[in-house]
Amino acid sequence: MNAETARVVSPATRPTDCPCGGAAPNQKAVSKPPRYAQCCGRFIDAAAIPATALELMRSRYTAYVLGEEAYLRSTWASETCPADLDVDPAAEGAPRWLGLAVKRHEQRDDAHAIVEFVARYKTGGRAFRLHETSRFTRGDDGRWRYVDGDVSSG
Ligand SMILES: [Zn+2]
Repeated sequence: MNAETARVVSPATRPTDCPCGGAAPNQKAVSKPPRYAQCCGRFIDAAAIPATALELMRSRYTAYVLGEEAYLRSTWASETCPADLDVDPAAEGAPRWLGLAVKRHEQRDDAHAIVEFVARYKTGGRAFRLHETSRFTRGDDGRWRYVDGDVSSG
């Protein structure tokens, strides 16, 4: 499937403030969230290319919030992208994402980076934390993609 032609953007469903909150290592908790259009919206709706794995990670979190499956697939390494990805936020039992905190961003070389983050969500009336260290690679096309991650408890 060609994500560029298959996608229909409906700006009415877009938030004003970016769901990712502009999360970055050492970010102050009180900082004002960036505008969606100037943050992850550039990548999800306007086809800009994230310059860093951190920008890509934030935009993927936002894509989960918005249920943008096509964007998640297009930013996932083909070797690890699951066939049965279902991110519809309106689905029964779907997680409701509450916020993102980024602990660490390390670019190891031109093509490898890791981002450690905590994403909070609620499902079935209970609150959870997803604490993951994600691996990203950059392809010959200059685009960062998510490969996989290690989930730690707590
Ligand atoms: Zn954002």
